Amino acid sequence: MNFKDYITIVPDWPKPGITFKDISTLMDNGDAYRAATDEIVKYANDKQVDIIVGPEARGFIVGCPVAYALGIGFAPVRKEGKLPREVIKVDYGLEYGKDVLTIHKDAIKPGQRVLITDDLLATGGTIEATIKLVEELGGIVVGAAFLIELSYLDGRDKLDGYDVFTLMTY
Ligand code: 5GP
Repeated sequence: MNFKDYITIVPDWPKPGITFKDISTLMDNGDAYRAATDEIVKYANDKQVDIIVGPEARGFIVGCPVAYALGIGFAPVRKEGKLPREVIKVDYGLEYGKDVLTIHKDAIKPGQRVLITDDLLATGGTIEATIKLVEELGGIVVGAAFLIELSYLDGRDKLDGYDVFTLMTY
């Protein structure tokens, strides 16, 4: 399957000069969504993953069906103020300013093997922050899987030493 056929390129969104890769046209097609999920399941199969972790909101869309297929759990990473129990936090840089990501303190047990999922790897800031949260809880990041990589933004440089899987590259 040519997965790029299912991605819609949206010029000048969310602001002028940004070309947004819209995955909603992959998700709303049952065959494409399943085939993309299957590719990540295949990647994860020999990694003995204990739990999947994904940042809101599209990290859930990618990660949850993989967790279901593998019969393992999924732990959400969310913006500050969204998780109801005790969390740990990490600051991460945005293009302008900063934001905070959080995870429940008991979401991962020390030594658990973690696969991180998100829809798209751009500068790598979101995934770098997610890795910090997982490792602070004692998790072992065994891989990071994305539907899309924007290779011209060099996000992989931030993931040096980690195993990275992407389905499509722009
Ligand atoms: P990074 O932190 O790697 O710079 O940005 C990646 C994050 O921003 C991901 O969580 C992703 O959902 C979102 N993102 C940035 N650009 C795009 C885009 O063009 N398409 C989609 N679907 N998500 C994007």
